[in-house]
Amino acid sequence: MSELRPETELIVGGRPEVVPDGPLNAPISPASTLRPGGESGYARSGSPAWEPLETVVGRLEDGHAVAFASGMAAAHAAFRLFPPDPTVVAPEVAYMAVRESLQIERDAGRAGVRFVDITETAAVKAACDGANVLWLESPTNPLLGIADVPELCAFARERGILTVVDNTLATPLGQRPLTLGADVVMHSGTKAMGGHSDLLIGFAVGRTPELAAELHEARHLAGATPGALETFLCLRGLRTLSLRLERSQANAAVLAERLEEHPEVREVRYPGLASHPQAGLAVRIMAGPGFMLTFRVHGGAGRADSFVDALRVLTHATSLGGVETLIERRARYPAERRIPPDLLRVSVGCEHVEDLWEDLDRALAATAV
Ligand SMILES: *Cc1c(COP(=O)(O)O)cnc(C)c1O
Repeated sequence: MSELRPETELIVGGRPEVVPDGPLNAPISPASTLRPGGESGYARSGSPAWEPLETVVGRLEDGHAVAFASGMAAAHAAFRLFPPDPTVVAPEVAYMAVRESLQIERDAGRAGVRFVDITETAAVKAACDGANVLWLESPTNPLLGIADVPELCAFARERGILTVVDNTLATPLGQRPLTLGADVVMHSGTKAMGGHSDLLIGFAVGRTPELAAELHEARHLAGATPGALETFLCLRGLRTLSLRLERSQANAAVLAERLEEHPEVREVRYPGLASHPQAGLAVRIMAGPGFMLTFRVHGGAGRADSFVDALRVLTHATSLGGVETLIERRARYPAERRIPPDLLRVSVGCEHVEDLWEDLDRALAATAV
């Protein structure tokens, strides 16, 4: 859609009209009521103030972006694209709240949902028999499983199955699902796109203007609009996405390799390691292995907790994609019962990698069993 490379589009896109003494950046525009004569009139139906951000995200994903109050608001807007009485094929392990939402739809009898291991391409195809929606998340949060997005999207399209890909962990620079054949991409912009752990925002991006119009209507009716400050901050954060990703990804690769050699650690999972079960697929469909990794420590969940408490540079907190490195034992949430109890998820940030490594190494030694 844009002739510029994504790294440039991030920086030059969404700028205000060039007028003498006009600002370089789109201003923060708090507004509910808008002057008549335009397409909206009232900001629940859309605001020109969000356009710079939506334009940039749309160009990055090669589609038509609609911004929402959060990633989950974007996910629920995508649910509204499902046909009546849908049968949905979805990941057995996916972002907790997406998984829970689909489970609730199933338990309430509003949707048939077939949960599958999205890394098992043949099993996913088999589950698509008679289904009308394929929901993918790749890499998955938190297990970092990778789906064969182009293969599965092509298979689904031949059968008229709507495909949605949660691209949050990859970011639009790491993977472009619409160009790999998906119908809708969703993001938690709260994560790497915002990048500073200071806002909630989400995106749903349609391959066609018609899909985007349906997403737009879902936002208008449910009212999950993005905030004025959040929209401003997210675009500001996006300007540095390629730099942040470059550093956090390089850091993650170093930490993953060293953790894999550490005697106190087992089962390091990182898409850039040869030991990752879909390492070859990751190289084929993603621009890079990303900033997320997981590992387990010897000594079980109790040791994992004391290890995390002993860290000083890495922060024990939830979420991901910020400039700061966050670590979390995911199974502390009852909804994450499908995750090994001692599995630690790390969102690697932009600190000096040796400070991160020294902290990890010291805390592993301090809590050795
Ligand atoms: C965080 C996250 C979401 C939800 O986004 P919010 O902005 O927290 O609502 C959805 N999918 C994935 C993969 C996530 O990591």
